[in-house]
Amino acid sequence: MKGAESVAAAVQRAKTVVATSHVNPDGDGVGSLLAVTILLSGLGKKVYPSLPEPWKYPPQYEFLPGRESLLAPESLPGNCDVFIALDCSNLSRMEPLEQVFERAGLTVNIDHHEDNTRFADVNYVDPAASSTAELVYRVCEAASWALDGRAATCLYAGLVTDTGRFQHRNTTPSAFVLAAKLAEAGADVHGVAREIYESQSLQYVRLLGTALKRAQRLENLRLVYSYITQSDLEETGATLAEAEDLIDYLRRVKGAEVVALFKELPDGTVRVSLRSGDEVEVASIARVLGGGGHAMAAGYTSEKDLEGSIGELLERLRDRHA
Ligand code: 5GP
Ligand code: MN
Repeated sequence: MKGAESVAAAVQRAKTVVATSHVNPDGDGVGSLLAVTILLSGLGKKVYPSLPEPWKYPPQYEFLPGRESLLAPESLPGNCDVFIALDCSNLSRMEPLEQVFERAGLTVNIDHHEDNTRFADVNYVDPAASSTAELVYRVCEAASWALDGRAATCLYAGLVTDTGRFQHRNTTPSAFVLAAKLAEAGADVHGVAREIYESQSLQYVRLLGTALKRAQRLENLRLVYSYITQSDLEETGATLAEAEDLIDYLRRVKGAEVVALFKELPDGTVRVSLRSGDEVEVASIARVLGGGGHAMAAGYTSEKDLEGSIGELLERLRDRHA
């Protein structure tokens, strides 16, 4: 059975479903999760959607249909017929939900990360897909489920954000075809653009200013980077959860083959986001440093402080150039 059909068959008889995405979820994670919740609830199943700890829902996705159905991990049932992981490359990215995962009757993994560890009973992993949202759509088609405007809006949000508004390399012909199909199904195309890209807080726009002012270019490493500290967050009143697209502003610099954004966390560790301009494969850099992701968009957490984590990445990049 092909991937999409095997997922459709796996959930067909399920009465109770727990679904989740990865920690620090992005637009594709929450969009796919809420779409699956709407689709399966529409079939009469009891769906429990949740997100890993730390339980933070990005404010730019508050508008998505079904957002109010999300449950904190402690409110989940102890077991379920089927557990669905979306856009999540490995089990450690869904802590503490792997406990529910282990007790599920059947587990399903729908993802487009190349480094996905195929951790479930049914693994539908396609790194050539633009987004996990695209894979959810294929399941929906394979199973002949009715797609309403609410679920279409959620999938469209995933598609738009993971392709960088149809600009990244994963913007395949099928990504455009999917956009048209979702618009036809009633996705709120303009609303998604307004809510995600033109409804940001003034606090976040000021944080963006702080990060942009600090941007550095190291021409020999073809690197552009910047950072955000905890005191930046206090001073501006912004949160890291709303800063998902901040790194895209650093990509604007000509000659930036690697773009890095260092984000200091409350415990002093640093979340590092990496993007590739065009040529450099950043997933392998992230993997060496304990993370992972896509060839062109990856990340990791450094146990070092801000200065130390910047030094650590520069050292890695120098080694590559040596
Ligand atoms: P971001 O920079 O937006 O946090 O992450 C970029 C991409 O890399 C996303 O697809 C995300 O799932 C992946 N990623 C980020 N951090 C990690 C990590 O620590 N481990 C793994 N396996 N993937 C990561
Ligand atoms: Mn994704």
